[in-house]
Amino acid sequence: MKLKFLGAARTVTGSQTLVSHNGHSFLVDCGIFQGPKAIRELNWQVPEHLNKVEAIVLTHAHLDHSGLLPRWVKLGWEGKVYCTPATFDLLQILLIDAAKLQEEDARFANKTKYSNHKPALPLYEEKDALRALSCLETIEYDEWAEIQPGVSIQFLRAGHILGSAILQVAYTQEEESRIVTFSGDLGGGHSEIIKQPSSSLESTHLVVESTYGDRIVDTSHRDLDLASAVNKVCRRGGTLVVPAFALGRTQDLLVSLYQLKASKLIDDFPIYLDSPMANSVTKVYLSNQSELLLEHQDLDFLKALSPPFFTPVVSTDDSMILCMSREPKVVISASGMLQGGRVLRHLVHKLRDENNGVLFVGFQGEGTKGRVLLEGAKTMRIYHEEIDVEAEIFNIAGYSAHGDQSDILGWVGSFRSELKSIFINHGEVEAGQVLAEKLRGLSSASIFTPVMGEEFKLS
Ligand SMILES: [Zn+2]
Repeated sequence: MKLKFLGAARTVTGSQTLVSHNGHSFLVDCGIFQGPKAIRELNWQVPEHLNKVEAIVLTHAHLDHSGLLPRWVKLGWEGKVYCTPATFDLLQILLIDAAKLQEEDARFANKTKYSNHKPALPLYEEKDALRALSCLETIEYDEWAEIQPGVSIQFLRAGHILGSAILQVAYTQEEESRIVTFSGDLGGGHSEIIKQPSSSLESTHLVVESTYGDRIVDTSHRDLDLASAVNKVCRRGGTLVVPAFALGRTQDLLVSLYQLKASKLIDDFPIYLDSPMANSVTKVYLSNQSELLLEHQDLDFLKALSPPFFTPVVSTDDSMILCMSREPKVVISASGMLQGGRVLRHLVHKLRDENNGVLFVGFQGEGTKGRVLLEGAKTMRIYHEEIDVEAEIFNIAGYSAHGDQSDILGWVGSFRSELKSIFINHGEVEAGQVLAEKLRGLSSASIFTPVMGEEFKLS
């Protein structure tokens, strides 16, 4: 079996690994590249292996793992795409939304002549997303399914977001059964609503993510830190803007805010969810209750995911009105790294006032507006306007849907069989290197940090 790393190699987006065995090939994830322009340009390349790939397996619905699928379909790719049932539900929302955004961006670029391409074209359109959705086939967790001659796969819970999976690929080589495990994005087991990642697995080889491979994240104060930011900003009459990913982080936050309100650790300030996609995704969480961690909770967390606990904001007009409003409040709005979406409009209205606050609750990738603001920018360019940053900036890392270094090491250490090789991907260079050093101290496996395009033959 061979693995070729075609994305998320020494970076965090564009997850894509080509798996080849006995003349057959499939992809693990088909993620879109996000971040600086030079990285995004990679989305436009025609993959040289397009016609070689017979199937695609998706570990979860986040676009950096699934968002290039409609592009492949647009380029003529045909085949089956395997995912868990909850990922299937989420992709119905995410891929259509992604296509609409691509179309909107192209229209905007043509109107403002803000593009080098004439005319500017969308990476893909809604019709491509619909065709991509028709390729989806679901496989339940913990069930093996043969997807190619001699190659079976199994999804296990990854504890990252609803529907997220660790992927195991079983194959035979030199008459011996082997397994290669892909961690996908691995949760740290700290989510209040998503079931824990599966551990104590059997495997011969491992591909593991490293988003937080170089740091320990203290999650013990995260709820109190959240309470303190909410109370501090709202009590002085300000708005706390929380840029959050529509899928995963938003639902975790709602549950934490619900707990804090129930235990009277925050005052009864209104909470708005200003993102049509986050509102739709939250409904998918409610319709997949068997995947939620509800049975041990004293509180009815389903209430946290439904109005009237929060006010959903759907129409653009209502969002504009909310931007102007000066009542003290919490506004959760996408996108999480400020790469677009309604949150930018809130920042245009709120950044200049020191009474307001911006609370980051997740990883801010290199080259994103979120990283710039988090690193202390005094001004910020939004919609061609230079805006002074007076609002208070807060950062709570404990809400990440990714495990930190100790979570990853604990999970790798729990494997019941001796791993022959470990490939570290989905992390920036420093994170991958630090994790590699730690793993060398823990495991006798050969450790690799592949670069983009690097291929390995599994022994
Ligand atoms: Zn993810």
